[in-house]
Amino acid sequence: MPSVAFHKGQFVPLEQASIGIMTHAFHYGTAVFEGVRGNWNEEQGRMFIFRLREHYERLLAGCKIMRIKLPYSVQQLCDITVEVVERSGFTQDIYIRPLAYKAEERVAYLNLGGLSDDISVMAVPFGQYIDTDSPAKCCTSSWRRMEDTVIPPHVKISGLYVNGILAKTEAMAAGFDEAIMLNDKGYACEGTGENLFVYRNGQLATPPLVDNVLPGITRSCVMDIAKNELGIAVVERHIPRSELYLADEVFLTGTAAHLTAVGSLDNQVIGDGTMGRLTHQLQNLYFDIVRGKNSKYLHWCTPATPRVG
Ligand code: PMP
Repeated sequence: MPSVAFHKGQFVPLEQASIGIMTHAFHYGTAVFEGVRGNWNEEQGRMFIFRLREHYERLLAGCKIMRIKLPYSVQQLCDITVEVVERSGFTQDIYIRPLAYKAEERVAYLNLGGLSDDISVMAVPFGQYIDTDSPAKCCTSSWRRMEDTVIPPHVKISGLYVNGILAKTEAMAAGFDEAIMLNDKGYACEGTGENLFVYRNGQLATPPLVDNVLPGITRSCVMDIAKNELGIAVVERHIPRSELYLADEVFLTGTAAHLTAVGSLDNQVIGDGTMGRLTHQLQNLYFDIVRGKNSKYLHWCTPATPRVG
């Protein structure tokens, strides 16, 4: 099944969607992107796109900072995305990548002004990013998470991801599944593509946004689900690195990673090393919700039906 992309204002086969090598974003990372999941519901024969509107709201926040002007509203971007998914016709889980970028073919120009902008939206089949069934083996990265005084960390600016990619590469080369990054003050911040939660002595906590974490959409869902379904209010506070070693449970949340238990950090076992009870409860609730199987949270899901032929 060939994938369809929205590129330069048109729906085209993915392999025809290309950019010139002089494109500003290609040279300088002057782009803003999102990662959205489409979760296939086999019984209903439909895709459920998770929190599509929230992803585009965050994308447009990044565009504001990067002075990328798009001729589309959030609603229009949602409609374009549903059409990409329906035309692509996938009947399995997918990953949707909207990318807004400085499209002008111009180099040796270090300025966001005076450049043309565009957005592309593409979708690819996508299974597990990290194994969500078994706890991840993590390490503390030697790379620090970017400060707001360097590159704004609250939106998904493409150039910023060099930071996370260095950290993830280092971690995987050393035999770990994921890196936990500290911020400049030494507080635990997040994974390279996931937010971080810690459960200790009955309190569920996550770092506050001022610690340079991305305002993750899964993070916000987990905060809602913990409160509404389990009566647990998540506390946003600084988390010292050493507290992670002492936690009863640690887990990561993200569009790609879903909700993944952390079994060890720097080869120190967390809890008893298996997926904790609370992590398991939250993961079960979350998996039903993202696949459109929990009617209470259907408003978080945008349905898309693959077009045949
Ligand atoms: N932190 C970073 C650096 C990320 O790239 C992501 C993935 N978007 C997350 C956290 C998790 O965010 P979300 O739940 O919105 O996918």
